[in-house]
Amino acid sequence: MILKYLKRLSHILPLFVTLKHMLMRPITVQYPEEKIELPEGTIGLHYLDTNKCIGCGTCARICPNKAIKLEDAGIKEVKTPKGVIKRPMKHPSIFIGRCMFCGLCVENCPTKALKFTTFYEIASYDRKGLFFSYKELSKERK
Ligand code: SF4
Ligand code: SF4
Repeated sequence: MILKYLKRLSHILPLFVTLKHMLMRPITVQYPEEKIELPEGTIGLHYLDTNKCIGCGTCARICPNKAIKLEDAGIKEVKTPKGVIKRPMKHPSIFIGRCMFCGLCVENCPTKALKFTTFYEIASYDRKGLFFSYKELSKERK
């Protein structure tokens, strides 16, 4: 008798779970129309501040996956203790398909020119789309 009652209960109880969730606020969003605001510290695509980058190449050397390469960025004026000099500048570009988002490049950048953004829409149909030049990395993204 008790066993029969318990068996019936086991059929009804999940219905209450469903009902409870019907009354709760949805936790999903209609992506891509709606987007969740991600918390600070989320690791997304890198941002490069070209005004801070001195082209030292530390990021490229430290990257364990060799995802970073230095790209020619033309002649730039650089402040030195002896005054302002003009010199050829290089900035990093990232092949994000190789990146494992370990953060070593960001942590070791001596001028804090590289940082992570919360931008995560970096999927691409081809490998070319996974390549981010220094110009693309320096775009403001939300
Ligand atoms: S981003 Fe930082 S580590 Fe990389 S080249 Fe520029 S200054 Fe050096
Ligand atoms: S986060 Fe790590 S793997 Fe990605 S580019 Fe920087 S050092 Fe390389």
